[in-house]
Amino acid sequence: MLLTSYAAGEWVKPEAARPLHDAATGAVVAECGTVAPDVEAMADHARRVGGPALRAYGFHDRARMLKALATALNERKEELYALSFATGATRGDGAVDIEGGIGTLFSYASQGRKGLPDGKIYIDGAVESLSRSGAFKGVHVAVPLRGVAVAINAFNFPVWGMLEKLAQTMLAGVPIIVKPATETSYLTHACFRIMVESGFLPAGAAQLICGPVGNLLDRLGPQDAVSFTGSAATAAKLKANPNLLKNAVRFHAEQDSLNAAILGPDAAPGTPEWEMALREAAREITVKAGQKCTAIRRILLPRAHLDAFGAALSEWLAAARMGDPRDEATRLGALAGLGQKADVAAAAASIGAECETVWRGETPAALEAGAFLAPILFRCDDPLHAKAPHEVEAFGPVATLMPYEGAEEAAEIANRGGGALVASVFTHDEGFAAAMVEEAAAWHGRLYFADRDAGKEATGHGAPVPLMTHGGPGRAGGGEELGGVRGVLHYMQRTAVQASPRLLSAITGTYLAGAPGKAAPAHPFTRRFGELEIGETILTPSRTVTLEDIEHFAHFTGDTFYAHMDEAAAKANPFFPGRVAHGYLLLSFAAGLFVHPDPGPVLANTGLNGLSFQKPVSPGEEIAAHLTVKRKTRRNDSYGEVAWEVRIVNAAGEQVAEYELLTMVAH
Ligand code: NAP
Repeated sequence: MLLTSYAAGEWVKPEAARPLHDAATGAVVAECGTVAPDVEAMADHARRVGGPALRAYGFHDRARMLKALATALNERKEELYALSFATGATRGDGAVDIEGGIGTLFSYASQGRKGLPDGKIYIDGAVESLSRSGAFKGVHVAVPLRGVAVAINAFNFPVWGMLEKLAQTMLAGVPIIVKPATETSYLTHACFRIMVESGFLPAGAAQLICGPVGNLLDRLGPQDAVSFTGSAATAAKLKANPNLLKNAVRFHAEQDSLNAAILGPDAAPGTPEWEMALREAAREITVKAGQKCTAIRRILLPRAHLDAFGAALSEWLAAARMGDPRDEATRLGALAGLGQKADVAAAAASIGAECETVWRGETPAALEAGAFLAPILFRCDDPLHAKAPHEVEAFGPVATLMPYEGAEEAAEIANRGGGALVASVFTHDEGFAAAMVEEAAAWHGRLYFADRDAGKEATGHGAPVPLMTHGGPGRAGGGEELGGVRGVLHYMQRTAVQASPRLLSAITGTYLAGAPGKAAPAHPFTRRFGELEIGETILTPSRTVTLEDIEHFAHFTGDTFYAHMDEAAAKANPFFPGRVAHGYLLLSFAAGLFVHPDPGPVLANTGLNGLSFQKPVSPGEEIAAHLTVKRKTRRNDSYGEVAWEVRIVNAAGEQVAEYELLTMVAH
């Protein structure tokens, strides 16, 4: 199979190609180009065609597109599994890549609907009041970059690596050019082809380069972004590109990482935490043959437990059967290629020069010709004075045991990785857990605590989950991705917008306090989702809050707090002039003032946000409520969510309480 690139809507054959080999058998799987396609035309196509096509949609439409793509891939995922074996991956290894990638698309499809507005502009954070009267305010908005995102990926996650980036750029509204690592590009190519054939990708939204990228980085400008995953050496070279520096092109780097697993002093033999640490370490060393950026490379534990853990882990590793990834009994597949095998062996040798070997597996003679490497477990008895185990990433089934004395030293050793994606801590001890965050969080992108309470529900040391940030400082690249909406914002420009509330409301499509409202033509609860307009408002009739009301509410609900019941005690409280109405009584009265009792388009009240009480209400005072349509979000074909701004005021017009009320309203 000759791998084509997908450029400007066409599958383009390379001018010259080289063979790619099956990691286990050495058979030729595909041929990949050795000459770049017309990358300038591709970048131009992305900016001219893909960007406008994506920006024509809002966040929710793009989220639906992601869901459609994920569904299409899910239906044809067996095609991907069939090819994945050639990368050396067992079925289980393939699942991490394939199901992990499709799952990330589904997750972003759902997050896009929940965490982003049903429009084109994202409001980042609160509205800031910038003037005394509130006539001038500010908000931060985020809008899609007008350029192209270039994703340069590592060989170890040919599917997940592409999909997790594509999920974020698509949702942001930015077209993407994907460049997979050549070694496993046939799997990315197959996955990309399914997406193109699904018909759900708008023209120009995604393109693929199989082979080198030529001078693409020299063609990028200030609205473009590069997301790189791979080795620290390649990242250092690429980010120093003078054109990227001159144009301040965003460069997100996810590099290699010497992740740690730390057993707390309480995680002694026989405890659930000990068992969890053993299982996790064995899994991390063998899954994908250790070719995971997040894999455990260093295992830190109290000196007294080191021998026992080394012996137990060696048993687990010895039991992991190495073999053809297509064989269902295989637990340890092959590295991605013979080049990798040589690299890992060399890296292990330099770690071995400073460490003792605890256990070294043997590669069966029948597998010697393939990219197979048996696990190696080292121990480093003086980790504070060692270099290689903290600095050399053997990107395969290799790990090093290290003893520590006390929490501070454990963190210091973990931090010697120079910045890592993840450290897992196996402890049930609250003090040790808190100390690890205080001492080690600054050097890690993720801290993963596993204990008997989280048990089997814990997601795993090595699994980047879409809702949580993935990335790490220093050596790990200093980049961040995933983390829900945070990851989408990396492809958007955050702009501070300062204006009057009327203009800000129009700009953001959200009613902001201080903007003039429009009198509703009928009671808003009688109007359907499509009829309601942002800013449409009513002021309800008023009602007097009596002492009898307060006492009735107190006895009815059981809330007989002294501020409502005891005049002298209430007066002695600096917040109250005497007995006052319950805040919840005011909310209930407000609902009684603004609801429309008959069946109508309002289907349900689903929540309330940002409730605050500004002024106490004394017996005998009058209250009324302003009800304003603040924001509308389509949910499905039957109904949408309407967020209402509710302001409760007293007879003097002073605000006594405010909140955002959420309702579902029929179309
Ligand atoms: P690599 O050799 O650095 O290659 C990474 C990518 O860069 C490949 O797509 C490669 O393409 C491309 N590339 C190399 N030179 C280039 C150039 N001059 N211009 C443009 N692109 C260029 O890394 P790898 O061996 O594929 O991946 C293994 C490393 O990735 C490990 O160190 C691992 O820790 C790291 N990794 C990190 C994460 C993370 O999330 N932090 C995830 C996975 C892997 P070619 O294949 O065509 O050379």
